[in-house]
Amino acid sequence: MSSVQTAEDNNPRKYQLLIDGQWVDAESGKTFTTPNPATGETLAEVAEADKADIDKAVAAARRAYEGKWSKLSARDRGRLLYKLSQLLEEHSAELAAIETADNGKPIKESSYVDLPQVVENFEYFAGWATKIEGETIPVPGRMFNYTLREPIGVCGQIIPWNFPLLMAAWKLAPALAAGNTVVLKPAEQTPVGAMELGKLILEAGFPEGVVNIVPGYGETAGASLAAHPGIDKVAFTGSTEVGKLIAKAAAENLTKVSLELGGKAPNIVFADSDLDQAVAGAMMGIFYNQGQVCCAGSRLFVEEKVKDEFVSRLSEKADKIAVGDPMNKATQMGPQVSEEQLNRIKGYVDIAKSEGATVITGGESPKLDGEFQNGYFFRPTIFGDVKNKMRVAQEEIFGPVVSVISFTDEDDLIKQANDTIYGLSAGIWTRDITRAHRFAKEIKAGVVWINTYNMFNAASPFGGYKQSGYGREMGRHALDLYTQIKSVWVDLSGRPIGWFGK
Ligand code: NAP
Ligand code: MG
Repeated sequence: MSSVQTAEDNNPRKYQLLIDGQWVDAESGKTFTTPNPATGETLAEVAEADKADIDKAVAAARRAYEGKWSKLSARDRGRLLYKLSQLLEEHSAELAAIETADNGKPIKESSYVDLPQVVENFEYFAGWATKIEGETIPVPGRMFNYTLREPIGVCGQIIPWNFPLLMAAWKLAPALAAGNTVVLKPAEQTPVGAMELGKLILEAGFPEGVVNIVPGYGETAGASLAAHPGIDKVAFTGSTEVGKLIAKAAAENLTKVSLELGGKAPNIVFADSDLDQAVAGAMMGIFYNQGQVCCAGSRLFVEEKVKDEFVSRLSEKADKIAVGDPMNKATQMGPQVSEEQLNRIKGYVDIAKSEGATVITGGESPKLDGEFQNGYFFRPTIFGDVKNKMRVAQEEIFGPVVSVISFTDEDDLIKQANDTIYGLSAGIWTRDITRAHRFAKEIKAGVVWINTYNMFNAASPFGGYKQSGYGREMGRHALDLYTQIKSVWVDLSGRPIGWFGK
């Protein structure tokens, strides 16, 4: 029998909290429900963690950290992570369907992007477990100095709903490879994938308490985790607004923090680019995952002399995007994750109009039939006549909504592209190689894509400049977030030091 509950199994599904290797109810006995965003129907009923459960989970993670987990060899940690990656691969099809039911993303995306990347991240960090090394330092005199690279301890990890399983993988894999233990809080909108992941973590054989999963609300479960004096580090992905709350809560105990926050990425099209490639890249940049991507290319800067042609090609293609049942393999865009997000996007359409922008296409929900008429769908939307100062060009909308801004001069373009509080990512489309690299150097962002967009790999670092956060996830740099360095000095002379021994 499969250890993962398939999407076809009876709904609503029921989940408890994973604390200390056991599935348990919340101390309060409370539960919450989460809908399938394509239909609005209840998908799952989930135990609701609060402060008392966070206390229990942190205590379990501490016991595991001081106990079994620290006794395990690096090789064994790596083997557990590798085993988990294999289980995830084995169950990819069911998990992709779950991700789609929970988040609304098209099954094509969850099957061919989310799940393969989840597997890749666990596999990649499994390999790192045995390669986390200290160094010897050439200090003067008859002294020997070396460093130990040690885990940080108990990590609180708070993740968003846009890539539920993938964000869990980005956080868990490096933390565990480095020997930490974890209390993970999934987003209230999308807890299901993380709970199924919990089953596989137990099946892989991780000792109890190494990974604790505590779904609940941000204001209660999330806030008490971030402020908990028993955690050594908090890692967060989500909005810049909540990121600031996390940093404040962590400051109270000087808990270490890493933040992966919002973005308002410039995606720049020069007239000399391959326009077919650039149109496809602009679409990938904003309509992928219904635009619910922190690195979405939501400010589309287009060189004035090709703007009209570019926009007409873009809007023609945007109108042809298949929006609907996310379980259908032909669907290109599913629903937004929640009614709240849908309303937020609609609000921005009104804001755009009131600021003087025009709706070139979209700007409303599509008319869908049957069970999907109550889903949270929105049409691919393009705003024209946008100025970079407008709210729709400055604030993260987190929907399939792109603002087109035209430009003529490269220096002015760079200024505008950098004129944002964010600095997560940027894209450029041009055949001029020197311009492409000049841009890569001058843009203040953690990731730059040249003639491509939304490229990711477990070995390549990702993270933000400015208010897009601090720290880099994935790649070797992620290990910096989950290790600390101890410097050890050894006297080799055998003589008393200094003048006190004389
Ligand atoms: P959010 O509030 O930042 O949610 C991210 C995570 O933080 C969730 O697990 C959330 O829990 C938790 N959280 C919320 N308030 C908290 C608090 N006071 N203390 C500790 N944890 C807390 O994001 P959202 O409300 O779902 O979405 C709002 C906007 O955030 C979006 O429109 C988008 O602009 C942005 N966003 C960005 C990203 C990104 O990857 N950069 C991802 C998601 C959203 P609950 O969800 O359970 O309340
Ligand atoms: Mg929320």
